[in-house]
Amino acid sequence: MKIVLASRNKHKIEEWEATLKKYIDGVEILSLDDVGIYGDIEEDGETFEENALIKARAAAVSGYISIGEDSGLEVTALGGEPGVYSARYAGEHGNDRANNELLLSRLEGKADRSARFVCVIGCIFPDREGDGECFRGETSGVIINEYRGNGGFGYDPLFYYEPMCKTFSEMSGEEKNSISHRGKAIEIFAKRLAELKN
Ligand code: IMP
Repeated sequence: MKIVLASRNKHKIEEWEATLKKYIDGVEILSLDDVGIYGDIEEDGETFEENALIKARAAAVSGYISIGEDSGLEVTALGGEPGVYSARYAGEHGNDRANNELLLSRLEGKADRSARFVCVIGCIFPDREGDGECFRGETSGVIINEYRGNGGFGYDPLFYYEPMCKTFSEMSGEEKNSISHRGKAIEIFAKRLAELKN
């Protein structure tokens, strides 16, 4: 089974393939480049679901099962910010340090530090009618005041997961996958795929 992931990030493609192989034998993940889709995809949706499906639709011209992933952090005391703007919260896309600093400054003096990571996978099945399906995973935690750990990316060093007494940055990749928003969304998606395959 071949699936196109709306990404050009080799690391992400490999990670996805490794995770999905645990559920589906012989699955192969192709990147946008692998199927000859070039150019940027404009992510202008207002929800994770909209953005995930925008990406999946862009990949669907390939004719394969196509998926798009959108994720981010929602902080309760900030009314759900940064949400779909997580990657560019402080302006520049992917500037993790600036995003984290802005988050901490906005949270100054706030008692409620609760937050959740959300990951939505949008999927277009070429042989099924409709606008596609979405699969959502969420993980709750709290935003701490100091950076802890060296692993991961994005908001990981500030996101403390109480059941393991660690930030996401302090976890191994395997530990994080086992409880993360992304791990959960992938598991739900994989189960749906396996169901359709049978
Ligand atoms: P996307 O690539 O458009 O889905 O943007 C996701 C953004 O949300 C990333 O750039 C991070 O800032 C944040 N994010 C999503 N998932 C994680 C995670 O697992 N750890 C840390 N930050 C994350």
